[in-house]
Amino acid sequence: MNLAKQIWHEVLHKLSAELSPIAYDTWINPIEAVDIEDGKLILLVPTSTNRDMVNSMYRPVIERIMNGLNPLYNQIDMILPEEASAIDETLMEKISVSREKEEEKSASFDGMILNPRYTFDNLVVGECNNIAVAAAKAVSEAPGVNYNPLFIYGGSGLGKTHIMHAIGNHIRRTNPHLKVLYVSSERFVNELIASIRHKSDATIGFREKYRNVDVLMIDDIQFLAKKESAQVEMFHTFNDLYQMGKQIIFASDRAPNEIPDIEDRLRTRFAWGIIADVSSPDLETRIAILQKKAQMQKCIVPSEVFNFMAQRIDTNIREMESLLNKVVLLSKLYGKPISVELASEAFKDYTKPTEEAIGAEDIIDATLKLYPGVSKEDLLGKKRDKGIVEPRMVCIYLISELLPLPLTSIGEIMGGRDHTTIMHSKSKIAEKMAKDEKIRQKVDDIRNMIYKN
Ligand code: ADP
Ligand code: MG
Repeated sequence: MNLAKQIWHEVLHKLSAELSPIAYDTWINPIEAVDIEDGKLILLVPTSTNRDMVNSMYRPVIERIMNGLNPLYNQIDMILPEEASAIDETLMEKISVSREKEEEKSASFDGMILNPRYTFDNLVVGECNNIAVAAAKAVSEAPGVNYNPLFIYGGSGLGKTHIMHAIGNHIRRTNPHLKVLYVSSERFVNELIASIRHKSDATIGFREKYRNVDVLMIDDIQFLAKKESAQVEMFHTFNDLYQMGKQIIFASDRAPNEIPDIEDRLRTRFAWGIIADVSSPDLETRIAILQKKAQMQKCIVPSEVFNFMAQRIDTNIREMESLLNKVVLLSKLYGKPISVELASEAFKDYTKPTEEAIGAEDIIDATLKLYPGVSKEDLLGKKRDKGIVEPRMVCIYLISELLPLPLTSIGEIMGGRDHTTIMHSKSKIAEKMAKDEKIRQKVDDIRNMIYKN
């Protein structure tokens, strides 16, 4: 690996812990480090939108991380493929490779990008997930034939999204002519809302998009709870695709009969094919997962370190993986081999996510933290300045998403507002999120902040 790639590789580790997975996969993952010039890391970005996003949202955090790694290289410069061709012949080769990748990605058919690292090869199979993985493999060999729909459920960080992407990656490789669409149900809902607001053409566009695919994967379907119009749309989408023999795959954090507030006709359809759960892996499987992750990063990790980590984090693979990443980073920063000592240092900051329920206050506090210029009085008050209205609406949106409260109670919490105001704020933010990555990121960041505390 050359120096540029090495630096970028380390930056990515840190960034993946700081950004939401959606932001990371959409904006950061497609970037390639190609060179270093005058101490600047030259990044090849696929599109100008991507460059603008990084400039406006992520440049400071990237440069801060670089500075922490090595102050000699603490700036980035971004080039587009067409600009690069004018600069340097040798860059062209690298770029043609990345163009090929880009073409592969555009095959995502306007869904979300599939993480190329989430493959079956990189997935450890144990008692916790063997049925889900077997079903997933069967589906990816013959989409629409056997298990339709495939419904995967289980707790957070146990590999549901990984399995879905593995199916998508496999189908794209073996059956590239098939249209595979992967989206979160949050995205499905937001696009639906946006299309309804923009009237008939957009609604037709929405339907065309979701009903002209060979494989539809909807992640985190529990998010549809209480969203009646989205459930209706999902029901019709399901029926159309099912009748045409197209494969449908759902993932959820709980079993169909445990998702509250979902229409029965949809719930029963979830169970038409196969329902497979993923549960927490046992110690042996957790160690095997860590070994796999270390091997992917080409790191040498003594087995007692795997034991140390796997014993301390036993319910969430994502957390375990980020502990490993932290240990790897510390070892690079300190120039020391990976040891139990380093692992315990990395583990120091780790606090087990609390099971305690969050309340409206937590959401308000987190919103205020992410909008530092806004005071609590303003947030709950009547001022209509633009800088206050947005955080207020975002806060309302999150309270209504995260807490099972009636609109009138949310109105009371938010300084005595009418329930129609609450409804309006909710749909306004949902609509904005479908169009504006900035606001979507903000909402993600606040949500992460809420669950971190
Ligand atoms: P979920 O969607 O269930 O919340 P993810 O699919 O996002 O979980 O998984 C979280 C992380 O854990 C990912 O990086 C994934 O690669 C990893 N992971 C989970 N289960 C496994 C497994 N069995 N083998 C390898 N990696 C796993
Ligand atoms: Mg997931």
